[in-house]
Amino acid sequence: MRDLPIVRSVADLRASTRDLRLAGKSIGLVPTMGALHDGHIALVHRAKDENDLVIATIFVNPTQFGPNEDLKAYPRDESGDAMKLAGAGCDLLFAPGVAEMYPAGFATSVAVAGLTDHLCGVSRPHHFGGVATIVTKLLLQAGPTRAYFGEKDFQQLQVIKRLARDLDIPAQIVGVATIREADGLALSSRNRYLSADDRATAAALPRILRETAIALAAGSAVAPILDAAKQRLVEAGITRLDYLDLCDEANLQPLGAAIPGSRLFVAAFVGKTRLIDNWPVL
Ligand code: AMP
Repeated sequence: MRDLPIVRSVADLRASTRDLRLAGKSIGLVPTMGALHDGHIALVHRAKDENDLVIATIFVNPTQFGPNEDLKAYPRDESGDAMKLAGAGCDLLFAPGVAEMYPAGFATSVAVAGLTDHLCGVSRPHHFGGVATIVTKLLLQAGPTRAYFGEKDFQQLQVIKRLARDLDIPAQIVGVATIREADGLALSSRNRYLSADDRATAAALPRILRETAIALAAGSAVAPILDAAKQRLVEAGITRLDYLDLCDEANLQPLGAAIPGSRLFVAAFVGKTRLIDNWPVL
């Protein structure tokens, strides 16, 4: 298999795409934090299907981690990732260092109001500011025709769609369905933190989401169904529940009744590992 070209500066990224851009070729961008799994690779495949050229990025963005989160421990495996990307047909990897993305004196941030008021915006107050800022930079640096994000991080996907629209960034933001293990657990770079016992517990998350979604879609009252689901999550061995909410997927506001476009969202700790997932209801 051919080696994947890797660039580390914005100047080199732009230089390597200039001719293709001038020739009118389309570019698909797949931003990631590395430690790639089949969920990430599904984004690359989709980008490959829909564009002339695919650029993946790997950047573990320090500004989207809180002080007590796993920035230092976050898994890193650039050479393994490069092989997976090359195998999936990716054309170029942009893997900048922190100083390239946040040079001395960096003072700007992008904040998306409203969509970040609930769900992970509450339990991780600085997270979406970091995500919105870095994704805005990546979209401006790479200038893609389309950029691909997973529905696994559904709130992030909505935040990115909104910032691209509000800031007139001319890239189509494409959401890609969540890739799951056979027992339903959403693939995540953080799953590798799970012990064998934690991994068994984690399977309760998608199972209870799915069963709760079915009950809500059948018209059951929301509050008692959510209370029962929370109780079941605790009984299944979840260490801590940040939230289990029914929200409108367009604006992410909590709902008192299931309506078309409603979705269940969960964030829970299994052992010390925080996992998120979501499930459509109606
Ligand atoms: P991350 O490396 O965790 O920042 O994720 C990079 C991109 O991959 C984001 O758009 C995620 O939503 C997406 N992604 C992560 N896990 C999955 C999954 N299981 N299925 C689909 N997309 C995913």
